[in-house]
Amino acid sequence: MTVATLRRPATGGPCVPKLTSGRFNTWRVAMVLLTQLIFLGAPWLRWDGHQAIWLDLEGQRIFLFAWCFWPQDLVYLAGALIICALGLFWWTALAGRLWCGNSCPQTVYTEIMLWIEHWIEGDRPARLKLRADPYKPAHLARRVASQAVMIAVSLVIGFGLVAYFVPAPELLASVLDGSMGGWTLFWLLSYAGFTYLLAGRLREQVCLHMCPYARFQSVMFDSHTLLVGYDAKRGEPRGARRQQHTANPRGDCVDCGVCVQVCPTGIDIRNGLQYECIGCGACIDACDTVMDKLRAPRGLIRMTTPHAEASGQPARVSWLRPRPLIYLGLIAATALAMAVGLWQRAPLHVNVLRDRAVMVRETPEGLLENAYQIKVFNADSRPHVLQLSAEGLPGARVLTEPAQLLLPAHGQLQLLARVQAAPDNVQHGAQVLHLNVRSRDDASFQRQEDTVFIGE
Ligand code: SF4
Ligand code: SF4
Repeated sequence: MTVATLRRPATGGPCVPKLTSGRFNTWRVAMVLLTQLIFLGAPWLRWDGHQAIWLDLEGQRIFLFAWCFWPQDLVYLAGALIICALGLFWWTALAGRLWCGNSCPQTVYTEIMLWIEHWIEGDRPARLKLRADPYKPAHLARRVASQAVMIAVSLVIGFGLVAYFVPAPELLASVLDGSMGGWTLFWLLSYAGFTYLLAGRLREQVCLHMCPYARFQSVMFDSHTLLVGYDAKRGEPRGARRQQHTANPRGDCVDCGVCVQVCPTGIDIRNGLQYECIGCGACIDACDTVMDKLRAPRGLIRMTTPHAEASGQPARVSWLRPRPLIYLGLIAATALAMAVGLWQRAPLHVNVLRDRAVMVRETPEGLLENAYQIKVFNADSRPHVLQLSAEGLPGARVLTEPAQLLLPAHGQLQLLARVQAAPDNVQHGAQVLHLNVRSRDDASFQRQEDTVFIGE
C-alpha cells in the first residue's frame, strides 16, 4: 500500500484516521472531556442572582461572575483577548502545536465526530469499505446513522454557545416548550451547522487550508520548542524486519505505515517537520505500540526539540528562554494594567448628550434652560436612588424626567435633565457645566461629567 492510499480513502474526501490508544490519546480524551465540561457547564453557573458568565446583548452588558461590564468597559475585553493571544504564543513557544492537537475547538469537535464515526461505522478498514461502496443499503444506513448523531451533537454544541447569550434555563425551557425566538433559533442552528460542517465534514481541511494560525505559528518556535519528530538516524533505512540479515541492515522503522494511518491530517511525519502536523501525538502512540510488539525501545517518533536532535541529548522543556520570557513579561504587564484598571474602575458610568435641537429656551419664569439626554450605567450589584446637581452655573437648578431616579442593580437608566438658571448668572455663548450624579444612600457612588450650557 502506498503512503497516499494510507492517508485518504481511494474515493477522496477527508482522512479516515485509525483511532489509537496510549499516553497522548488519554491526554486528548481528557482534554475533550474537560473542555466540553467547561464549555457546556459554565452557562449553568449562577452568581449573585444572575448567570455567572452572560453576554447580555439586549441589555448591552457582560456578566463575568461579580463583574458587570458595559460598552464603556470594552477595553477590558480587549485586554483579556490580548492576554489569551499572548498565552497562546507563550504556550506555542514552549510546546509547539500541543494547543492545536489537544484543545483547539476544531480538533476537539473533530475528535468527537471521529469517535461517533468509529462507534457507528466501525474501525478504519470498515469505514473505508463503507466509503468505497456508499450506496449499498447496509452501508448507507450506517452512514446516515452516524451523520444523524453528529448533527444531534452539533445541535447540543450550538445550544451550549447560545446559552452564553440567552440564560441557559430560559433557553432550555424555550427548547422544551417550542417557544424559542426566531433569532435565537437562527444562531443556534448557525453554530450547530458550522460545527457539523467544519468538524463533521471538512475536518483536517480546516487546519490545512483555512486556519491562519497554522501558517504563522512557526515564527514562535525556537530550537527548544517541543515538536513531534521522527528519529531518522534510528529508523532509517526503513523496511521489514525479515530483511535485517541482508548486507544492508534495516533501521527500527518497519515501514508498517500505522503512523500515517492514525494521523488526523494525513501526513507522514517521517518526512520531517511539516506545517500540517498539529502535534496531537497519535503517531507517537501508534509507533510506541509497534515498538512494544517488536520489543524495541519506544520513542522512534517522540516529542523532541531541534536542539535535542542536534545535540543527541534528551529533550527537556526549558522555561527560562528569551522568547517565552518575553511573552510572559507581556502577559504580566497586560494583566497588571487590567488589574489596576479594574481596581480603580468606577461602578457608575454616565453619558451626557446635550439636546442639540434647541440651543437655549426661555421658561415662563424667565429662566434660561438647556436640556440633556443622560444615560447612567450601574456596574454595582445594588440598586441606587440617584440625584442630579449642577456646578459651574450659580443658582442653577436641575429638573429630571422621570423625577424619581431609580437605577436598578446591574442596570441602566435613561433620563432627560433640564438645567435652568437666571439670565444674570449665565455668560453669553457656551460655558462649562459640571453635572454631578450621585446616590442618595452611598456618597462614594457618584460621578461628575462635564458638558456645556449655552447662554443667549
Ligand atoms: S509506526 Fe513506527 S515503525 Fe511503523 S511506519 Fe511509522 S515510524 Fe515506522
Ligand atoms: S504527524 Fe503525528 S502528531 Fe502530527 S498531526 Fe499527524 S499524528 Fe498528529
